[in-house]
Amino acid sequence: MRRSLALLLPMLLALSAQANDPPPSKPIKPASAKEESSSPASASAKEERKPSSKESKDSKESAKEAAIRAKEALAADELAARIAERLSVIRKEKDEAAARSVPRPVVRPSYAPAVRKPESVKTKNDHGTNSAAAAGGQAASHANIHWSYKGEGGPLNWGKLNAANAKCDIGERQSPIDIRDGIRVDLDPIAFDYKPSRFSVIDNGHTIQVNIGAGNYINVMGINYELVQFHFHKPSEERVNGKSFEMVAHLVHKDADGKLAVVAVLIERGKSHSLVQQVWNNLPLEKNDPVQALTTMDMSDILPVKRDYYTYMGSLTTPPCSEGVLWLVMKEPVEISPDQLAIFSRLYPMNARPIQKNSGRLIKESN
Ligand SMILES: [Zn+2]
Repeated sequence: MRRSLALLLPMLLALSAQANDPPPSKPIKPASAKEESSSPASASAKEERKPSSKESKDSKESAKEAAIRAKEALAADELAARIAERLSVIRKEKDEAAARSVPRPVVRPSYAPAVRKPESVKTKNDHGTNSAAAAGGQAASHANIHWSYKGEGGPLNWGKLNAANAKCDIGERQSPIDIRDGIRVDLDPIAFDYKPSRFSVIDNGHTIQVNIGAGNYINVMGINYELVQFHFHKPSEERVNGKSFEMVAHLVHKDADGKLAVVAVLIERGKSHSLVQQVWNNLPLEKNDPVQALTTMDMSDILPVKRDYYTYMGSLTTPPCSEGVLWLVMKEPVEISPDQLAIFSRLYPMNARPIQKNSGRLIKESN
């Protein structure tokens, strides 16, 4: 019990510090609270013990101990209640301070956090376009809500979380979309030039991502794009004629100018998939702590036999939702086993952005 009290108090102090306020003028007294709840009670209890026999001594002692424990529990509850009350006051003060636009001088206690970092620092996405921010954990500011797939940080709020995410709200060429009414033409095949490569697997908090060694390319309409990474969504973000798939793999490529081309490989339930198993075999135990695999991976193995595809211009499907992304969605899905699906499901049961407006965009598809 004493230990839990000792734990609660530093928590309160840390929370008060986070609240960015000067220390409370009437702080809760950790020492007295501790005293109330433990030492005097146990000391007096010991003195009172004058048992006439061993048996009654044992039963009396256990009764006493139970009473002491009950008293300690009560004291802890009272302290917790006081902490909660104090926290609500601190939060209210903080909210009121934020509401007042006039800056006020604040004398920071020595343990208070430094000035918060600007929001733009923490902008990152799972499409490998801002690897510096993704690599450095220092960027994340806990003062702000981070984007996610549900709740306050969910897709409908992405544009509001950060000025850099404006496109998520106002963009007219966003992804994913429901792919339908494509124009059937003789699309040039995508020229895949993939080879066995080293890879590492990272759980970035939004998906499982595989970073691939250099030297893997696609060529589309005369432009070379190099494969940077691939990652998964469940269910598939894109739909085809309204149909959603169990999962999708997004293979993110970048050309010399930094323009992105993403190959989407739809995934349905079926036979097990050796490349997916290779990824799962190297799943990291901790988020943002990449596992360097000892084997190589040939990305050709994730492609369907038939290479027909849909293509349209869209965006990143994660903040900052940048547009100008060339999407290449393979028509033929590949299969993974129910067990392999279940493994991803445990980590990310739902990490798909909802369907976005097509806004009259042209979709082309292989004949
Ligand atoms: Zn993606």
